Amino acid sequence: MTDSNLTDSPDETGYETSVPPEESPAECPYCGRPLESERLLVLHEGLDHWERLDDDRREAFQEAYVGEGDDLRTFRLKMLALLVVVYFAFLFVYSYVMEDPFSSTNAALLLVGCWRGVR
Ligand SMILES: [Zn+2]
Repeated sequence: MTDSNLTDSPDETGYETSVPPEESPAECPYCGRPLESERLLVLHEGLDHWERLDDDRREAFQEAYVGEGDDLRTFRLKMLALLVVVYFAFLFVYSYVMEDPFSSTNAALLLVGCWRGVR
């Protein structure tokens, strides 16, 4: 890493960050830490400088924090759906390769049976 890209060393803020010269990140007014976006700045201020914030910034932090929770919940649901798809894909491949005792037809019938059981 070259010194021209380094804006903060771990000695100053406790964080090692590297900002490309053409970027203009949001910078924390309290500790000078560069952050990628205004939303991340709001979250950082709420987590690290809560006592120093006024009511507007605290409210902005709470809104950003709730939004972050919604994003995390959506991400977890997508990953669960992906895990189910990968599981059944491996099950079909296994049953196709092994053919016994679970043939691919039996695995498909099992999947349909589970699906009807859920409904
Ligand atoms: Zn800060």
